[in-house]
Amino acid sequence: MTERLTIALSKGRILREALPLLARAGVVPVEEPGSSRRLILETRDPGVRLVVVRAADVPTYVAWGAADLGVAGKDVLDEHDGEGLYEPLDLEIARCRMMLAAPEGTPPPGRWRGGRPRVATKYPRATRRFFAARGLQVEIIKLYGSMELAPLAGLADYIVDLVDTGATLRANGLVALEPIAPISSRLVANKAAMKIKHALIKPFLRRMEAAVAAQRREREQSERQAEGARP
Ligand code: AMP
Repeated sequence: MTERLTIALSKGRILREALPLLARAGVVPVEEPGSSRRLILETRDPGVRLVVVRAADVPTYVAWGAADLGVAGKDVLDEHDGEGLYEPLDLEIARCRMMLAAPEGTPPPGRWRGGRPRVATKYPRATRRFFAARGLQVEIIKLYGSMELAPLAGLADYIVDLVDTGATLRANGLVALEPIAPISSRLVANKAAMKIKHALIKPFLRRMEAAVAAQRREREQSERQAEGARP
């Protein structure tokens, strides 16, 4: 049997931003992923296939060896125990920040008066770590979506969520209070596959590293051009 590589990644922004990088590394789906409901995408390279899973499931597929490699946000990886996983490469895509936010006028958590404040988040581990490092006691409420609704509905005093442009916060009368961590998508690898499929994975990693470097050069160039165009 010929060995093949399976790469797990999630729909949406990560798939959209990972595809151009994968293409630079020579991995191109046979079918247009947006037009297909298939969850296993064959690529033009018969040795590589993509599996499309929920973002929070990527580390699980890779840790159990159902996928050799995966693309997952740092936010998702930090909530996973990380066992069985290597994180060999920052892909520098789907970049944003994990932020502490609250309704306008809310004091910073260090100046909160009256009981433990409630913090709604999809990221309880990162949130616990952030408040523990400041010696602050909070009640963490785990949610699966629409964190920005929690303060409006009276469920929580603060939220910890991902922020990109800040438009979602603004649209809901929330303001960012403190940055918690910069976020980007990482390539992760199954530890056993790194050994057993070394001959396949190593050259693929090299190609992905080169793809990330080329992407960075292009990004920096367009940032310089945008700066130059500013009056
Ligand atoms: P924005 O309104 O541009 O600040 O984007 C914030 C919304 O997009 C929130 O609902 C976030 O959970 C989501 N979001 C932003 N960046 C990412 C990312 N890199 N990965 C996943 N979700 C994101």
